[in-house]
Amino acid sequence: MALQEHNYWLTTADFPKIETWPLPDRVDVAVIGAGFTGLSAARTLAQRGAKVAVFESETVGWGASSRNGGMVLTGMKLGVNQVISKYGRDLTRRMYAASLATVDCVEQLVREEAIDCDFSRCGHLEVACKQKHFDGYARQVEVIAREFNHRLRVVQRNDLSAEIGSNIYYGGMVDEVSAGLNPARYVAGLGRAATKAGAEIFEHTRVEDMQRESREGEAGWKITTSRGPLWAGEVFVATSGYTSKATPGLQKKLIPIGSFIVTTEVLPEKLAHELSPRNRMIYDSKNYLYYYRLTPDRRMLFGGRAAFFPETDQTIRRSAEILRRGMIDVYPQLRDAKIDYVWGGTLDFAFDIMPHAGQLDGMYYAVGYAGHGVAMATYQGQKIAELIAGDKPDNPFVGIPFPGAPLGLYNGRPWFLPFAGMWYKLLDWVS
Ligand SMILES: Cc1cc2nc3c(=O)[nH]c(=O)nc-3n(C[C@H](O)[C@H](O)[C@H](O)COP(=O)(O)OP(=O)(O)OC[C@H]3O[C@@H](n4cnc5c(N)ncnc54)[C@H](O)[C@@H]3O)c2cc1C
Repeated sequence: MALQEHNYWLTTADFPKIETWPLPDRVDVAVIGAGFTGLSAARTLAQRGAKVAVFESETVGWGASSRNGGMVLTGMKLGVNQVISKYGRDLTRRMYAASLATVDCVEQLVREEAIDCDFSRCGHLEVACKQKHFDGYARQVEVIAREFNHRLRVVQRNDLSAEIGSNIYYGGMVDEVSAGLNPARYVAGLGRAATKAGAEIFEHTRVEDMQRESREGEAGWKITTSRGPLWAGEVFVATSGYTSKATPGLQKKLIPIGSFIVTTEVLPEKLAHELSPRNRMIYDSKNYLYYYRLTPDRRMLFGGRAAFFPETDQTIRRSAEILRRGMIDVYPQLRDAKIDYVWGGTLDFAFDIMPHAGQLDGMYYAVGYAGHGVAMATYQGQKIAELIAGDKPDNPFVGIPFPGAPLGLYNGRPWFLPFAGMWYKLLDWVS
């Protein structure tokens, strides 16, 4: 098969057929974005009896939610010691506990809605690219056990062949609690679940503007969409890396970063087993990292930030060769394996690399998942929906400081990405 510039996961999933209804005149909650965050929120809100409309400028799951590696990960992007030094022990304990709860949240939702998405608690493996990185693992495991009562396991270099068929790493660290799934099937299932609960989804409907407007004495929002206006009591922005000038306050706080993936042809069973004997979700210890896994039909899925800029025909094409070379560095056994698919997507980083949720400019939001969004987005969608519904859910990411760019030098157009890319490459070289 010739190389397809197309998302492999989409070839495995059936998306719900969404009817094109006229826009309602008013809703209780308008959700912007039909990915994990928006759909998980819409399901919870509709189950609580709210009239909910989800607006999606493309189609269900079109954003990062159908394009990712499907790694349902514990922990946060930022290392635990950094998180402790920023927020102190108590808040970090709640954050870490929440990160474990995110995986349970996905598992429970998959079970309740019977979503056929190959969810499996296969665990994740982080591999050390330098001796220095490996030396840090023992300290991390000790802190995580002591502070958060959660067990990770260090894998010495000599024992690594039981985990991965590559000899370039200095050792590894395993968390058995993490999971894997097929993200396109998962987000399609979430779309069905939200609709079943009573939420209405409006595809090909871009939200262009929102202004405060009261109706019959009730505070709310006049929402302008590409298909006309409506009124909503509350707004939940769930647009992640695709956040635009429709929400300028949020756009200025997020850096959209491209991530790219290749998948090989289907591999022989013996070779697939040799590459990943325990079928883990794997990523390495660099800033400019690679992440990889086997797909349920035994392709090697290999991803990374081959270009920092969001996906275009050009960045996708360039990424195919960069990632193929990266994959062969890790797995020389794949030298002759054909690459069948390459695609890209955009994820969102906050300037402090933390997830953020709460209210900004009067609108609810949950963003900043920094490549840990499969589990966290599902969880935040649910938690913020509970908050909108009037509960007081424990959510340690609400209310933490949400910094913008240093000196405010950013209007939402990431002119500094090439420099950031070079900076991370330099950091990987020296650290
Ligand atoms: C290549 C890649 C690999 C990744 N791998 C992993 C992984 O293995 N594990 C992990 O945990 N995370 C991973 N991530 C991150 C994860 O996919 C995201 O964090 C998560 O999907 C975010 O979900 P979301 O619903 O918040 O946003 P998205 O799924 O991006 O959805 C946002 C939606 O908002 C819509 N939208 C934007 N503006 C408007 C508007 N004005 N009006 C209407 N609609 C609008 C967009 O069209 C889009 O569909 C990866 C991301 C990428 C790109």
